[in-house]
Amino acid sequence: MIHIGHGRDPARPTLVPREEMTVRLIHEGKVKRVFSDPESDERLIVEFTDAITAGDGAKREVLKGKGEVACETTEFLFSYLEGKGIATHLIRRLEGTKLLCKKVSIFPIECVCRNVAAGSFARRYGLETGRPLSRPLVEFFLKDDELHDPMITMDAIVRLGMATQEELEFMRRVTLDVNYYLSELFRQVGLRLVDFKLEFGRTENGEILVADEISGDTMRVWDENRSSLDKDLFREDEGDVVQAYKRLLERIREANPEQVPIREETLLVHVMPKSGIKNPPGEVARKALVRLGYDEIVDVRMGKVFEIKVNTPVSPRLLARVEEMNRRLLANPIAENTRVRLE
Ligand code: UDP
Repeated sequence: MIHIGHGRDPARPTLVPREEMTVRLIHEGKVKRVFSDPESDERLIVEFTDAITAGDGAKREVLKGKGEVACETTEFLFSYLEGKGIATHLIRRLEGTKLLCKKVSIFPIECVCRNVAAGSFARRYGLETGRPLSRPLVEFFLKDDELHDPMITMDAIVRLGMATQEELEFMRRVTLDVNYYLSELFRQVGLRLVDFKLEFGRTENGEILVADEISGDTMRVWDENRSSLDKDLFREDEGDVVQAYKRLLERIREANPEQVPIREETLLVHVMPKSGIKNPPGEVARKALVRLGYDEIVDVRMGKVFEIKVNTPVSPRLLARVEEMNRRLLANPIAENTRVRLE
């Protein structure tokens, strides 16, 4: 087959036989390989291998069929999330173990969301496995096997330049959204989402997308008898992992995504006068407060906060629309700064 490729002069496309378009191995991880897409610099091919690891790679095996079921589960769940308005890097599944994805650079951070105490959380705080948490929580871990993926605070991530505060708030909120949509889907078919790990990547134009994988390898899921359908079977040598991953996928395929209601989200848009710009309402408040005896006050600036509720998850598209709202109506870009808070 002949494809249009680019010769030396980008203005004049030349014909390049497909066989000559090489697929380059870009990255080889513990269980996945990433290849260039010969047809586009903006896409990558992610291959799920049959390798399975635990304990930061200390325990490793090859289980026939694991790559395919992990790939299929990721395709299914990423497509489901996309259908709910959550942006992922998935374009489409190519064949058994390969996904065609948007090219992103992955943040060196794992976002873990928990509904129930288990794994490292239960060990760290001496809790009984299975203790439900009053609300879901998000934890961050540094992706570094040599350091054994230590937990990392939001401040440390920002100070070390791995992500900005805004990017982290975005990832945290999307992780909670993903938790809601997965938990509700699984609940329909009697499954309980205990915890899971998400990774995010940034595209060249700064969009942050859910990336990597969601499968039995990256979640804990219990059935009605509290049997695991996930990698705990491998961690604890407790049964046929590939069969369990297949059962997990079969069961979630039985759920009806349309029956999962869209959740309302709240965004706070803070609008503040730029420094150096006069702020008469703040000045009036300052004078009045000083008159009342609060003489420690040096300056008061008064801005506005808009609490905006939307019927779509937080996504790069929504953030772009909020920026547009700011420019068009909520703020005066010449005199005011805006900041979207997603806490
Ligand atoms: N997880 C993952 N990759 C990692 C670490 C954790 O996919 O490198 C997933 C894990 O499968 C579980 C959740 O994140 O669903 C929480 O893992 P935990 O911190 O409890 O660590 P573990 O005890 O699994 O090492």
